[in-house]
Amino acid sequence: MTSHPRKRGQGSTGRLFSTERDLDPADWDAARVTAHRMLDDMLDHIETLRSRPVWKEPPAEVVSRFREPLPRSERALSDVHGQFLEEILPFGTGNTHPGFMGWVHGGGTVVGMLAEMLAAGLNANLGGRNHMAIHVERQIAYWAAEMLGFPTDAAGLFVTGTSIANFIALLTARNAMFGRDVRATGIKPSEKPVIYAARSAHDCVRRAVEMSGLGSNALRIVPTDQAGRLEVDMLETTIAQDRRRGLRPLMVVGTAGTVDTGAIDDLTEVARTARRHGAWFHVDAAFGAMAALSPRLKPLLAGIELADSVAFDFHKWGQVPYDAGFVLVRDAGVLKATFASQPDYLRRVGRGLAAGDFWPCDYGPDLSRGFRALKTWFTLQVYGADRLGQMVERCCDVAGYLAERIAATSEFELAAPVALNIVCFGARHPAGCNEWIVEELHMRGLAAPSTTTIDGKTVIRAAIVNHRTGFEEADRLVDAALKLKREFENR
Ligand SMILES: *Cc1c(COP(=O)(O)O)cnc(C)c1O
Repeated sequence: MTSHPRKRGQGSTGRLFSTERDLDPADWDAARVTAHRMLDDMLDHIETLRSRPVWKEPPAEVVSRFREPLPRSERALSDVHGQFLEEILPFGTGNTHPGFMGWVHGGGTVVGMLAEMLAAGLNANLGGRNHMAIHVERQIAYWAAEMLGFPTDAAGLFVTGTSIANFIALLTARNAMFGRDVRATGIKPSEKPVIYAARSAHDCVRRAVEMSGLGSNALRIVPTDQAGRLEVDMLETTIAQDRRRGLRPLMVVGTAGTVDTGAIDDLTEVARTARRHGAWFHVDAAFGAMAALSPRLKPLLAGIELADSVAFDFHKWGQVPYDAGFVLVRDAGVLKATFASQPDYLRRVGRGLAAGDFWPCDYGPDLSRGFRALKTWFTLQVYGADRLGQMVERCCDVAGYLAERIAATSEFELAAPVALNIVCFGARHPAGCNEWIVEELHMRGLAAPSTTTIDGKTVIRAAIVNHRTGFEEADRLVDAALKLKREFENR
């Protein structure tokens, strides 16, 4: 059967993408040509990343073109793609580029990109029901459990990122402590629950406490040692004091890989302390979890297997394209009791499409859920856990090398010990120098570290998370930073 493209005033290039019947291409051959072009252009882009600056600021005139009214008429896919190539692609975050070391961003892979395309083609909704995608997500949960030493019947769920995974863990801990009724009653102020996290914990932990309705006054910030790790003695003292005052330790958050310096809390001791006081033990291992794939680094995470829940991201050190956060909960029952409900329109049956014994919507707040599992499944299979572990190790080796180079300069000094893959350094003076160096590195597209504050001072922070970042980029960063420091002084 031939389809009949509608008449319309179309642009000169390319066919339109709908028929009177539906939104499928009127001309599949033409669609194929454009589709292959799009794929080839993206592969070209990734292949030639190194020849471009890390980052280019979106020009004002380009940005201003993104304030247009709703497009009413159709436009050829190839035209829109042309606009993408000119106006969107060149002005990315730069986190795919080997020179990107800012914040904690994954680099993505071609494998992940292709899998994401397949997932979009399949257009699966992983809220529940009886289809294969659900089993792929469950496979990832088994792998995550194996990776982190959890029982295989632990529940695992893809979410946007660790921020939400931490939030889900907190809600689950709340249910574990107060029981199912808390979903109806909420937590009464007289219950006085308290959450504990180190000063070095990610800010999303505080936000999770706020969003939960407990209020961030319920969060105790525990001091850290010289290396940025939670002080377990202080945790013990604080909890004991709180309990004497009638407060209830709800959850203790340990971090495996702090956002500032990559420090890893003594998870075994934190676990013991949490358990002694009847608190839920949660680990934020946003990027650090991937260190479990390296036999050399895995011992650093000792104690993570004792956690009641772990939040982490495949989209950071796992290199899976955004977004692919994950929450792993030891007791699947308590996670389910936190979220499950069964309205009539989601009725489960014994057979047919509405069957299936695991509906992810019972284990988290989302009903409609994308197929994040597929790009993760492809990534873990194509590279294999060992190769990914080697990649993680190499990032740490690059960080170690960068730290050595910094330590060998007289201009810069390390601001914190390098526990894993994050190097914080800076010049002691002049004031404002470190911020300026980072901004200039960005503006010139030379490298993209970020800044943070350590001991009250702004420092340069290079997080080696991208699989493409090597020793060369470490050299380039140090050389450029040295040059910029001289420029700053001579301005
Ligand atoms: C990145 C990060 C988070 C937040 O994770 P998202 O995926 O960005 O939501 C939380 N904790 C730590 C330690 C992180 O590095």
